[in-house]
Amino acid sequence: MMDRRQLLMGAGGLPLAASAASAQTTGQAAGKALGQPLPNGVDLPEPPKKRLGWAVVGLGNYAINQVIPGFLQADESRLTAFVSGNPAKAKDLAERYGVSTIYSYDDFDKISADKDIHCVYIVLPVGLHAEYTIRALKAGKHVLCEKPMASTVEECEAMIAAARAANRQLGVAYRVHFEPLNIEVKRRCEKGELGALRYVTGDAGFNADPKYPPMKWRLEKPLAGGGSMYDIGVYALNGALMLIDQTPDTVSAVYAYPRDDPRFATVEGGVNWRMTFPSGVSAQGSSSYCYAGGSRLKVFGAEASISMDPASDYYDNRANLHRGWDPGTPVRAAPPFTQFAAQVDGFSQAARSNTPHRTPGEMGLRDIRLIQAMYRSADQGGAVVKV
Ligand code: NDP
Repeated sequence: MMDRRQLLMGAGGLPLAASAASAQTTGQAAGKALGQPLPNGVDLPEPPKKRLGWAVVGLGNYAINQVIPGFLQADESRLTAFVSGNPAKAKDLAERYGVSTIYSYDDFDKISADKDIHCVYIVLPVGLHAEYTIRALKAGKHVLCEKPMASTVEECEAMIAAARAANRQLGVAYRVHFEPLNIEVKRRCEKGELGALRYVTGDAGFNADPKYPPMKWRLEKPLAGGGSMYDIGVYALNGALMLIDQTPDTVSAVYAYPRDDPRFATVEGGVNWRMTFPSGVSAQGSSSYCYAGGSRLKVFGAEASISMDPASDYYDNRANLHRGWDPGTPVRAAPPFTQFAAQVDGFSQAARSNTPHRTPGEMGLRDIRLIQAMYRSADQGGAVVKV
């Protein structure tokens, strides 16, 4: 029988560690690589879910900086094609993201034969949304279209009709419906944590720099459809409606921007608006191309309120719950970057299962109708318009 000292010693009286090191340096095999059983309690990860293929149409500021990187975090959606009028930019992006197919606007309709495209994401100037959405639907694809949905009520209706005729999904990309903090605030409102909802106020705007290239089309009505209310005010309007979850019966509005400002020759530069609801809830807010950038929402219930500032940022939304006059306690949720991936995955799920998307074309149409009614009111100096 070996004693403890002999056990620790290898052949020739060398300690075991020294003996192994010596075997390695002499090239002698120290052991063989051998597969091992899965350790108890270790689960293998789920295989990747089947992903729907997406084409992104229009490779501008928002597509490049938010939409396309968002696909990297998606579980059920993958980029398969780009559509662009700038082949060099499209090629460069395609190489960076491993996208193999590029279409131009002229050969866009060829996507109908592309089996690797299930969904099309329209990220073009607003005046082009209806045309490219309808062409994509006619090509048999599901379409997620950026906000605001289109220039006119008639265009929105034509887009919805095209989706029905093609039996395809049509969504409007209201990303805050997929943003964890906004979802949490909505959940608390629905749960009654604030008591009966009474009033929501919301503001969204920025000071428009006409020299910034993506601003150029925003200040020209044919491509913009409308002014600040279309582009940025729609966040506060749609956010207020998401929380109130009712249909307004009246709107009113006044224009609020310097009338001699040369930026606003064809589109409005600011609107202050109001909405009333049959239940007695009311909302008011503002949109602007003239004030410093920001977005906020405040929802008052009978017992508590929640203030969100910023409310519709890409990465850094904040919310506080107030029980009265107190400074508030933070409302927490998962990191907001997930909103871009969650939005495309939510749409992929709706497309695959043929179930309603959270932000359908009808929601986009509702908002364009309301904004148009606000413009009618503002044109009449703030008259109350029934909707
Ligand atoms: P950009 O001007 O940066 O990009 C628009 C892109 O559309 C261009 O780069 C170009 O792509 C293509 N395009 C085709 N025809 C024209 C034309 N006649 N004039 C200008 N561009 C044209 O705009 P944004 O990226 O800021 O906005 C695009 C869309 O995204 C809009 O609908 C906007 O409302 C929406 N948006 C949504 C946001 C959100 O948070 N949900 C935030 C910002 C924008 P190419 O060179 O590849 O052909």
